Amino acid sequence: MKRERTGNNKFLKRLNQMRILNALREHGAISKIELSKITGLSPTAIGSITSELQEQGYIHETGKGESKGGRRPKLLELKPRSFYSVGVDFDVDYMDLVLVDITGQVIDQISHKVPKWDSVEKVAEKFELMVAQVIDKYSIQRQKLLGLGVSIPGLVDSNRAEIIMAPNLGWKNINFKYLLNQFKDVPLYIENEAMASAIYESWLGSCRGIENFVCINIKSGIGAGIFINGKLYRGVSGTAGEIGHIVVYENGPRCGCGNYGCVETLASAGYIEQRARKMARQGVSIKLSSFKDIDSISIDDVAVAARNGDEASTNILKESGKYLGIAIASIINMLNPKKIVLGKKFTRYADIVLDTVKAVVECKALKFPAADVEIVASEVGDRASTIGAALTPIIERIGGHSCTWNICS
Ligand SMILES: [Zn+2]
Repeated sequence: MKRERTGNNKFLKRLNQMRILNALREHGAISKIELSKITGLSPTAIGSITSELQEQGYIHETGKGESKGGRRPKLLELKPRSFYSVGVDFDVDYMDLVLVDITGQVIDQISHKVPKWDSVEKVAEKFELMVAQVIDKYSIQRQKLLGLGVSIPGLVDSNRAEIIMAPNLGWKNINFKYLLNQFKDVPLYIENEAMASAIYESWLGSCRGIENFVCINIKSGIGAGIFINGKLYRGVSGTAGEIGHIVVYENGPRCGCGNYGCVETLASAGYIEQRARKMARQGVSIKLSSFKDIDSISIDDVAVAARNGDEASTNILKESGKYLGIAIASIINMLNPKKIVLGKKFTRYADIVLDTVKAVVECKALKFPAADVEIVASEVGDRASTIGAALTPIIERIGGHSCTWNICS
């Protein structure tokens, strides 16, 4: 009986610590009185728990707030550079890694090219090498590392930290943790790439304070991370947001899913590149035809050609915007979001396409929900999912089950 009570007390204490840390994560620097109001904990409990968190190095005092009659209250915040997290975004031919501190501030970022179709074992080896390098560079002790977050372009089981299927990487049913050697003891979190982007946009990006938004990632495929009423929406099987398979043209190209005319067969960056290469071979675009290695034409090359007045490149890009707009109109009708953030490779050519997307949405979506939605390109280029992956261990470790995002296991 006594042992049970001790266990309950420990659990409650940890829960209250998390409530305070999570309130500081969400609200920034605030006073103990504000903490008490937000968490519902008594001023005495707040005083005792914050002293302990200060001793452990998670939080610190930072200046004074405004007086409301008496003395100016001391403000508390998460302590920068006290604890850290590493996030990585895997794609077909690169891995993009960031080191962030407990406040979410990016300390360092590294990109590393990997040969296409490298085995998952080799990728895991390189990943560990990069993590070791970055934590050595900043002399970070292992116990200061809250965890590793991994962003995957595919289906994941975030509860079990498993990769179910990442078709573009050729990975299926993988327990990534088993592949690690030197970081086996560090908490590992696996997140779907679009959901990782949405986590970034919600905490630090352009959707701070917005409860209903959709973050759409456009690259070789198209996927979305959806926030509903302030919570990440995963769906019954954890696969919500597979919007790349919304059919926008019945007689369109065959998609990897077996259907025809899915939006990702007509508006993904991968499709734009394929089409640009075909047009270059046919001599339709003078600028693209002048490339020595037509197979190397990238989305950036198409965007540069369009900006330099190449009509064929402009047409390919704007047409992709039209199909994207049709799919987004359906999303707006269905979810009535406040904001739609277009990310990943889209940010490389947003200046050319965003107006087309908005015009099609205006034409196709229901007027009432369309009037309330703002459509923007992500402000961090294509790095949102990498930072989002790095934020996941912080949210899980300091927010736990009290976190409002409900991304916890
Ligand atoms: Zn499809």
